[in-house]
Amino acid sequence: MKCIRIGVLILLMQLTSCQDQVKETKEPNDSKLAKRVIVLGLDGLSVDGFKTAKHPNLDALFADGTISFTTRPVMPSVTLPNWTSHLTGSGPEEHGVDNNGWTLIDHQLPGLEKDSDGYFPSIFKVLKDQMPNIKTAYYYNWGNLINPINQKYLDEVNFLEDDAYEENYKKANAFALKHKDDPTLIFLYSVHVDHAGHNHEWMSPEYITSIEEADVKVGTLINALKKDGLYDDTHFLLITDHGGKGTGHGGMSPGEMNVPWGIKGPGIKKSSAFKDYNSNKNTALVLARLFGRDSLPESWTGKVPESIFESN
Ligand SMILES: [Zn+2]
Ligand SMILES: [Zn+2]
Repeated sequence: MKCIRIGVLILLMQLTSCQDQVKETKEPNDSKLAKRVIVLGLDGLSVDGFKTAKHPNLDALFADGTISFTTRPVMPSVTLPNWTSHLTGSGPEEHGVDNNGWTLIDHQLPGLEKDSDGYFPSIFKVLKDQMPNIKTAYYYNWGNLINPINQKYLDEVNFLEDDAYEENYKKANAFALKHKDDPTLIFLYSVHVDHAGHNHEWMSPEYITSIEEADVKVGTLINALKKDGLYDDTHFLLITDHGGKGTGHGGMSPGEMNVPWGIKGPGIKKSSAFKDYNSNKNTALVLARLFGRDSLPESWTGKVPESIFESN
């Protein structure tokens, strides 16, 4: 009899601990969720370029986070397929964007899933559908970039001509301040590093300078966020689409097919570099995880590199 009682007790204890686990995954603790995420996107930022350029502001930022130097772009190592992968958690085989000329009405392969307007689901749609109070912004200076993204899930969009990007950094800062009490996702992109590579070669002095110029703007943004009390509870990502070789990219050389990928913020591990297999198509899943969302489109094939989190 005693054995049965102990057995029942153990069973009850196991059931209770199972319930606790289920509760924990289904109802994420709000205090652990991202308050705001700023995605710093620099087109064409190669690993060698990042390691050669002087960028004290990015160094200070990611000294409190972690960076991968072995993240793989999706194939081909071309701009639009890769930024689409970052923002849609999938590869060209799923989202169908295989070249820079892709448009909603002119493309070869339909995406595996479509929203009511015909767009493959982006992180902006996933978050807006599940978090009606989230605020989203998208800043860019290469026109085609936004073509695969349904803009109805964006609260603010701004495009700058001729590789300008400083104004977008200011707008991102203002957007973060305006919505400081709401969850916020800001995508802040510039193409000028890629254009320096095309115009002067990857790793040319002009290319390195273009990275160092971006770092100055990052520093200004960080100082403004600190002044407004928004820095400590902001997550930052540093992402890019591909590296380069000579005056181009699109091929399979290691310099084109390995890129930096960094993250920093509450709950993110502080370590010099993480070595998980990582892909540009993981970014949207990481963003979803930061905001506590685990109900994702079935066609998203990326995965979260788990070792970036403190608890792992
Ligand atoms: Zn590019
Ligand atoms: Zn390019």
